[in-house]
Amino acid sequence: MKIVRNAIRCNLCGDEIESQSRHDMVWCKCGACAVDGGHDYLRRCYRSQECYTDISVVEKSTDEIAQNKKNVTDSRSQGRKNVTRGE
Ligand SMILES: [Zn+2]
Repeated sequence: MKIVRNAIRCNLCGDEIESQSRHDMVWCKCGACAVDGGHDYLRRCYRSQECYTDISVVEKSTDEIAQNKKNVTDSRSQGRKNVTRGE
């Protein structure tokens, strides 16, 4: 996953904040929420999840999308051990 923009909007003060680099932690004006992680990971701090709206932009590579599909299939098949599989 590629993080193009790591940003949130505070629902309480309307401030839009963006983390530009890995250790760039940015708080909104009212201090209800913050973003961190830059383009490496999406980290949020908040008083409650209703405090902010996520406006981040991420790009998924085709490899990762294929991997996610595989994982979903695997977890489903694990729950169905008694089902006989037809050829
Ligand atoms: Zn705020």
